[in-house]
Amino acid sequence: MNNIYSLAVEGVQKLIPYKAGKPIEELERELGISNIIKLASNENPLGIGEKARVAIQNAIVDLALYPDGSGFDLKNALAKKYTVTPEQITLGNGSNEILELVARAFVTPENEVIFSQHAFAVYPIVTQAVGAKAVVTPAINYGHDLNKMLACVTAKTRVVFIANPNNPTGTLLTQQALEHFINLLPEHVICVLDEAYFEFVSQTETVNSVSWLQRFPNLIITRTFSKAYGLAGLRVGYSLSSVEIADLLNRVRQPFNNNSLALVAAEAALNDVEHVRATVENNTCGMTQLTDGFKNLGLTWIPSSGNFVSVELKQDGQAIYEALLRKGVIVRPVGVYEMPTFLRISIGTPDENTKFLNALKEVLTNV
Ligand SMILES: *Cc1c(COP(=O)(O)O)cnc(C)c1O
Repeated sequence: MNNIYSLAVEGVQKLIPYKAGKPIEELERELGISNIIKLASNENPLGIGEKARVAIQNAIVDLALYPDGSGFDLKNALAKKYTVTPEQITLGNGSNEILELVARAFVTPENEVIFSQHAFAVYPIVTQAVGAKAVVTPAINYGHDLNKMLACVTAKTRVVFIANPNNPTGTLLTQQALEHFINLLPEHVICVLDEAYFEFVSQTETVNSVSWLQRFPNLIITRTFSKAYGLAGLRVGYSLSSVEIADLLNRVRQPFNNNSLALVAAEAALNDVEHVRATVENNTCGMTQLTDGFKNLGLTWIPSSGNFVSVELKQDGQAIYEALLRKGVIVRPVGVYEMPTFLRISIGTPDENTKFLNALKEVLTNV
């Protein structure tokens, strides 16, 4: 007897959907309370920047028209900023879409895809959706073990996903280690370097990956407007790669995958240097505020280069998460990342961080 589920392709039959952070409105409905804060999805606590807001308002009059499917203006602005050509850029409906385009363009059910334990949850999803085999390498100090990843490469390997910094651990690989790794990767393996949190990495630690594109035609760097640029709701991400890879990704891309408000807002946000600066500054202060707070509570955490930090509770994180919800604080449980005793906290405004730390203190003293 066939049921509808058995008709789905094999990878999809076993797929567990991505679980997003709980929306504020949902918790409001459930608890009937207001003043809820959400530190669960690594969004920008300062919100959208002024330049992007104005660009959106000006573009509303043209919403009856299809967007520019080639993303001409945004690609040119990105090309100028990162010294690449527009032909090396692929725009996605969030950088998550780019990850999916990579899997669709390059990966068959006969292939293997390598990523690390505790790495971003979208990698297993896009791998399984195309029916390929996921090869998960054990982490080292919660970060990528590049030697182990290299040792797992076979003739069947087609893609390696690396998040730098990684979400949810915040771990960062050095420029040297990464360059060495990509250099040793065989040419039949595409390396996706996911730099969603690139803007938050301090100057001294920044990995200058874009300069590698000339040497590595199998390298794809993905970035996003969802985090530091404060446009998560509009869904804009992009990749920088060789012209050949961009050409291939473009073949499977939907013609209008970025809407017109997203295109103009992202272009304006890219030039809103002041908003990004303020965002990074808030993040630096907030990281200190949160980790000082953890220290006072006798907790440890994984040092993070992103706009979030994972704290070790030495007890069931899900239970603490639920207790925090009842106090109007939404954070992220990371049990699905094999970190059941941790919670991931996005850095908020100073007030949000204080509210979270007070709630955490109350919850921990009441268990
Ligand atoms: C948030 C995130 C992304 C991308 O999100 P989009 O909103 O789809 O651009 C990609 N990779 C990692 C590791 C992330 O944490």
